[in-house]
Amino acid sequence: MTERVGTEPSVFTRILHGEIPSAIVLQTDDVFVIRDIAPQAPVHLLVIPKTDAYADVTELAAADPRLLANMVAVAKAAASQAGASDFRLVFNTGAGAGQTVFHVHAHVLAATASPLGERTMTLGMPDGEEA
Ligand code: AMP
Repeated sequence: MTERVGTEPSVFTRILHGEIPSAIVLQTDDVFVIRDIAPQAPVHLLVIPKTDAYADVTELAAADPRLLANMVAVAKAAASQAGASDFRLVFNTGAGAGQTVFHVHAHVLAATASPLGERTMTLGMPDGEEA
């Protein structure tokens, strides 16, 4: 599925408005976090600005670096809330890189600590790409 910014609200905007079910696990005034519906790692969250004005991270960085910085801070908080101190932050940028939803979002990917405190699994790239 490829979803482009246009007249239709993005799937993430529809989630934010409660039109598609998905639990919002964390939110601030301008950013919200959901669990990815197709997780590629034990922890796989999506950090999403509430505005759908930016299709990808390059547009966001050019127009509103403060909001991008907020997304990174929220990613850290969401990973921590999920029990992960270390995580990968992935912005698929462009269809050729696997981006399917053109409402900028960051994938937070992390292992979870085992009872022995070991990291338990290799993390896959979102959309099945190899790192
Ligand atoms: P990307 O391919 O980088 O654009 O990421 C889009 C992500 O959104 C994919 O990892 C999808 O699994 C995820 N996704 C699509 N629809 C939903 C949904 N309804 N709830 C949660 N995650 C979703």
